[in-house]
Amino acid sequence: MSGEPALIVVGAGAAGLAAAKAARNCGASVKVLEAAGRIGGRAHTRTTRNGYPWDAGAHWLHHAERNPFTALADRLGHAYLARFAGFRIFGAAGFLDDREVADWTAWSDAAFAAVEALGASGQDVAAAEAVPEHPRWRHLFANWYAALAGAPPDQESALDYARSADSENNWPLERGYGALVAAWGADVPVELDTPVTRIDTRGKGVVVETPKGTLRGKAAVVALPLGALRAGRVRFVPELPLPVREALQGLHPGYANKVALELDEALLADVAPTSYLSFDEGPETIRFQLRSFGRPMVVGYLAGPFAAEIEAEGPQAMIAFARERLVRVFGSGAARRIDTAQTTDWLHNPLSLGAYSCALPGHAAARTQVQQPVTERLALAGEYAHTSLYGCVEGARASGERAAAQVLSGLGLSPPRAQPVSAPSA
Ligand SMILES: Cc1cc2nc3c(=O)[nH]c(=O)nc-3n(C[C@H](O)[C@H](O)[C@H](O)COP(=O)(O)OP(=O)(O)OC[C@H]3O[C@@H](n4cnc5c(N)ncnc54)[C@H](O)[C@@H]3O)c2cc1C
Repeated sequence: MSGEPALIVVGAGAAGLAAAKAARNCGASVKVLEAAGRIGGRAHTRTTRNGYPWDAGAHWLHHAERNPFTALADRLGHAYLARFAGFRIFGAAGFLDDREVADWTAWSDAAFAAVEALGASGQDVAAAEAVPEHPRWRHLFANWYAALAGAPPDQESALDYARSADSENNWPLERGYGALVAAWGADVPVELDTPVTRIDTRGKGVVVETPKGTLRGKAAVVALPLGALRAGRVRFVPELPLPVREALQGLHPGYANKVALELDEALLADVAPTSYLSFDEGPETIRFQLRSFGRPMVVGYLAGPFAAEIEAEGPQAMIAFARERLVRVFGSGAARRIDTAQTTDWLHNPLSLGAYSCALPGHAAARTQVQQPVTERLALAGEYAHTSLYGCVEGARASGERAAAQVLSGLGLSPPRAQPVSAPSA
């Protein structure tokens, strides 16, 4: 591989792309190596057979009122839905009535507030410890919690939960979040189909190995998914320091998968566009975004350990599960009206090995550890390496900017004053 850049970035998700942009702002030469044949990582918009876009990964502009990708969407003309279109819950006897929904909403709001209060008191214990008993809602809560946090409440630290930034504004993008990230990253030169296998920091700079050859640089930002790092998909020489390895094991890579199905338009004629449908049942469930932006399709969301179990059974099992739940709601005729389907494999795909992270009980401090430079020439970036915006695209982006600034300052490089590192640069 030719050239010796100041910075090598490993991974071209939001974190890696942000690191590369930050390096460019400093006037530093940069090379980005990406294993996949595309940029964006877990921000990936796919297209159904009939050409409708859907987000296989990130979909909502979280903290939309202050998310830099919202301003970018405005600038690039990517429309988003700046309101919540509502949800319904389907139970054993049909749709829950208004009184039941109000009861669920009040109880789950109180349960989330209890987790928040436990964490805010500094207790690094399982969020589940704060969830009150309830004869009916605990199962549904565990599922909603897992969709939000990446894992059920017995697997996340309440302190980690309490540290996450709070906002009610989660706005879906009409053309997809993945499409927006791809547009933002389009000006970053990336070597695609170039998996990094080994990173050697023993010498003066860094030496990065790939099947296409070896690249030398002065410093590196490793913007790999948490799951890939935990599984040792890339070999570090010398090994990452023990506190870093322990911190990585203290974070959970999270569970989530999706199934997108195209349907006969008439089936959803009475359904509010981009509204949501949940099932009043235990953790083996799915929730749907119905008629996304008025399109004849639904996107099913699988959360918690069940998302991994059913992914392991294969796409046909995921599709069959989604169809069965749709038939439950829309009647047996619905089966004939369900057309093509696509599925994701975030939890077993070696390039992700997880969805979005949470800190395990007792390990809330892990996030602080992974944000420290590993050495003067090596720093980690990714959604997991942010204290309050973890699990989000904008958190990944901020972590990339932070990691680049850490290693570039060691090289005597910093961004020009007029252009702060965090400014959107697309
Ligand atoms: C189902 C799902 C729903 C989500 N919903 C939302 C949402 O609504 N809103 C939101 O903000 N976030 C959401 N997220 C989380 C969000 O997608 C991530 O937080 C964010 O995209 C992570 O960015 P990253 O750069 O840290 O990692 P990634 O995007 O995973 O980037 C890492 C990159 O490293 C590459 N790579 C892996 N191995 C190698 C190797 N050996 N060599 C070189 N490259 C390698 C990967 O291919 C990938 O491109 C969701 C995620 C999932 C899975």
